Amino acid sequence: MPQRKLFVTTALPYANGKFHIGHIMEYIQADIWVRHQRMQGSQVHFVCADDAHGAPIMIAAEKAGKTPQAFVAEIAAGRRPYLDGFHIAFDNWHSTDGPENHVLAQQIYRDLKAAGLIATRTIEQFFDPQKNMFLPDRFIKGECPNCHAKDQYGDNCEVCSKVYSPTDLVNPYSALSGATPVLKTSEHFFFRLSDPRCLAFLRQWTASGAVQPEVLNKISEWLEPDAEGKVAMGDWDISRDAPYFGIEIPDAPGKYFYVWLDAPVGYLASLKNLLDRTGGDYAAYVADPAVEQVHFIGKDIITFHTLFWPAMLHFSGRKVPSKVCVHGFLTVNGGEKMSKSRGTGLDPLKYLSLGMNPEWLRYYLAAKLNGRNEDIDFNPEDFMARVNADLVGKYVNIASRAAKFVPGGALAEGPALAALDAASLADSVRALYESRDYARALREVMAAADIVNTAFDAAAPWKLAKEGQGQRAAEVGSWCLQMFKLLTACLKPVLPALAAQAEAFLQCAPLDWDNAATPLPAGHAVGSYQHLMQRVDAKLLEALFEPPAAAAPAAPTAATAAGGSVPGGEALAPEITIDDFTKVDLRIAKIVACEKVEGSTKLLRLTLDAGEGRHRNVFSGIASAYAPEQLVGKLTVMVANLAPRKMKFGVSEGMVLAASHADDKGAGIYVLEPVAGAQPGMRVR
Ligand SMILES: [Zn+2]
Repeated sequence: MPQRKLFVTTALPYANGKFHIGHIMEYIQADIWVRHQRMQGSQVHFVCADDAHGAPIMIAAEKAGKTPQAFVAEIAAGRRPYLDGFHIAFDNWHSTDGPENHVLAQQIYRDLKAAGLIATRTIEQFFDPQKNMFLPDRFIKGECPNCHAKDQYGDNCEVCSKVYSPTDLVNPYSALSGATPVLKTSEHFFFRLSDPRCLAFLRQWTASGAVQPEVLNKISEWLEPDAEGKVAMGDWDISRDAPYFGIEIPDAPGKYFYVWLDAPVGYLASLKNLLDRTGGDYAAYVADPAVEQVHFIGKDIITFHTLFWPAMLHFSGRKVPSKVCVHGFLTVNGGEKMSKSRGTGLDPLKYLSLGMNPEWLRYYLAAKLNGRNEDIDFNPEDFMARVNADLVGKYVNIASRAAKFVPGGALAEGPALAALDAASLADSVRALYESRDYARALREVMAAADIVNTAFDAAAPWKLAKEGQGQRAAEVGSWCLQMFKLLTACLKPVLPALAAQAEAFLQCAPLDWDNAATPLPAGHAVGSYQHLMQRVDAKLLEALFEPPAAAAPAAPTAATAAGGSVPGGEALAPEITIDDFTKVDLRIAKIVACEKVEGSTKLLRLTLDAGEGRHRNVFSGIASAYAPEQLVGKLTVMVANLAPRKMKFGVSEGMVLAASHADDKGAGIYVLEPVAGAQPGMRVR
């Protein structure tokens, strides 16, 4: 196979926080593919960078009393322990605020403009008169125009999931200053993606095999005309007004590129930074038709990478991506999704600091990744079973059992103990890595390990040794070690450190796809066997998921600072009058039925009787504290005049009262229950 040239990237993490487990999963997925490529002699440039620009970073830096540059540099300085810790071997880690990115983003823009694909348009936008700036959607809050839930973001409602524009909000306010925003006009720059040239190119490129079929399905919605011949793809607003932390638009004072314009350019900037530093020729490399450009991304950023980015490259006269590999989200214990913006549950640094082996996680994630855009779940019991039973119990076990029957470590030649075709296994596993079906690759490796272990048991070398057939026992041990070498090569992309230890034990050349199936010569001496991997201890997993010690109480406000303590972990709310209080109509309600809500780990559905001659349906986030049967038949207190809220699972017609500590999640949730004698419908005052 001719040597391939590959330019591989992972999505750029937004530089406003630490890595979460979702980032690490993506890096491991890409790293395995890159290591597989290097094992077949491909020349790979594997890069990433911090996504440094945009309003959220500017605002977070201001809050922290730092310049955005200093804020981002601090985040960047914390990346290394994660990458080294999980054996993620990027060739370069750069920043979208690097000089290369400023130059490249401006060049690409100029080229798109020369192609007639940049337009300007005057738009109306919310402006914060106190902060003197246009407000990004996420920094405008107000009442949802659909369900009237309060304090919803400017782009969508978290209660009813309705998507709208900020100007639709009822009583909008600035999340930065609290001021009421005013509508102001501004000239914005647009990339004309609705131009027929762009649509024609994107239809062709997306169908060229560059994306997975399930991804093509999804993005076709943007490109295919509807019944009336209309296409959903609109022009893309690529400018933001000062103040903004970003790259200035050429010949447009006070205008900056929207962060999503310059973020993917950061792939090229990181590559250029790498090649400039290592004596490469960036211009020649990116013009080389043999170079394949491969992006690994999550499903939340598909449109940016499969529509906007290829069009930016193509119409600026650049090469387009060869492949965009999309993965799903990682959930932990079937829980909350780990997207780019939120991530909880499994803290990667805590994992490392507990001394947990990074290759356990690499192996476990690889055993679940199949190359399709599907969510995967981290389940602690499953994790322990797969590592202990498969990795240690099957694969490592082969070397540990076989080595003792090879006297002096010199390999003996003998008949194969089982029909295991080394070359066809290596070929098959190699092809599965290529298509990113790591799950199936590992299944094939473990099936082969089963065959080897079964053959070892059947040959019973310990009996042979006792019966004076030492040579025969040595042949059995030697065959098993040859198979161990084959399996090590097959696992090497996933387990680079373990493979290095195994190579040292086998005293063989670094394993690759060329030598994977070639047996070591008879008489080759292997080293003395040292234990290769510990089993997962359940206590480590318990420690990993133990909630952090009770957080420090919230900073006291002026009202409570005098008293010195913060009851329940939060400061008292501002004073209200009795009239304010009587607006809230609290009633005793009987919980006549209670059930789990399918699709939610937090909510219970309560059926309440408040003496109204009808029942109310109320959702309550108490599933972590109560089993439904614990609550049926009990009385509680309900907010009876709360506006009905339309939620994903149905309409909630009230709210039950419960006590909890503001910070200490471990302290529990306690539903209020009246003293005996209260009747449904009685008002609480
Ligand atoms: Zn809503």
